[in-house]
Amino acid sequence: MKTILTPNQNPVSEADRTAKIAAGGFGKYYTDNMVIANWSEADGWSDAVLQPYGPLTLDPATAVFHYGQEIFEGMKAYMQPDGGISLFRPTANAERFARSAARLALPEMPINFFVNTVEELVKQDRKWVPTNVGESLYIRPFMIATEVGLGVRPTNQAMYLLIATPASAYFNPSKAVTVWISTEYVRAAPGGTGEAKCGGNYAASLVAQKQAAAQGCDQVVWLDATERRWVEEMGGMNLYFVKGSGASATIVTPKLTGTLLPGITRDSILSVAADLGYKVEEVMLSIDDWRDGVASGEITEIFACGTAAVVSPIGSAKSTHGTWTTGDGNPGPITAQIRETLLGIQHGTIEDKHGWNVRVC
Ligand SMILES: *Cc1c(COP(=O)(O)O)cnc(C)c1O
Repeated sequence: MKTILTPNQNPVSEADRTAKIAAGGFGKYYTDNMVIANWSEADGWSDAVLQPYGPLTLDPATAVFHYGQEIFEGMKAYMQPDGGISLFRPTANAERFARSAARLALPEMPINFFVNTVEELVKQDRKWVPTNVGESLYIRPFMIATEVGLGVRPTNQAMYLLIATPASAYFNPSKAVTVWISTEYVRAAPGGTGEAKCGGNYAASLVAQKQAAAQGCDQVVWLDATERRWVEEMGGMNLYFVKGSGASATIVTPKLTGTLLPGITRDSILSVAADLGYKVEEVMLSIDDWRDGVASGEITEIFACGTAAVVSPIGSAKSTHGTWTTGDGNPGPITAQIRETLLGIQHGTIEDKHGWNVRVC
């Protein structure tokens, strides 16, 4: 399979594009092109087609509208110091996309095919990649079930799509977010879809997000479904806790139990923190550990991480058990150091020891 190029012959003007990039935000404007590939049980994957960005026409009885058979990915292209553009660990996204597909009974896309579509779109729309550190071109691959009919069954037709949007900083890194620890709702249960990146997980999470907002919090923190005790994730991001301070600090993240989404940022920070000389641990961490650790001062910093926001400091946590504030509630130095190191690697200003960056153009 390859990507056939039939790009937009009427791209937006340079002035319009510059204004849209400068407008910042997340997901407001999309680039001139998109990629589509179709799959059927009978014929497998078609070639992908890079074509002008635009609306889809789908039968109202298309399966995805009714039973939510959908998966997605989130990845970024970063401007390099020499004006070239790199992707960050695209193969890891391709592999996770294939695992999500398997869980949602969607067709697995060959790894090289997936990466090729991303590279072609970035090359075509390279002028949309913002230039400042902390900004990037956010790339959204996704797949939907396109069989028409209301019968509940794994689809025999699917569509893969790829769109891209210039992204500025998602959260303000100098302002800590406050979180609502939900003891009422859960994101993922054992045997469910927590490890897969699927839209359905998000649909089921929004009511808790609303509750968090009603409590004056920015984001939800999820606990395990069985005991409502073990800390799992924050919204659509993984969590990290810093114990102690300075060179002897230990960086702790909840262990992947099968109900957490295995974040590529989470995985990268395990290496980055170790490279910086910190002790790194993947453990089960309870809400009591959180409360007691913050109270005793053992936990000095908490942050969330993911592709969209990279690293985002967490200040206060609120739940039906009370409110706990980490340190003085402001972003801590190790959080900032890890954020800057990771961003430096992604933007090519800090040595990429692990070979994570893939040069596209
Ligand atoms: C995408 C996602 C993450 C972060 O994954 P990255 O690969 O680091 O972007 C964490 N949790 C959930 C629920 C997610 O959907």
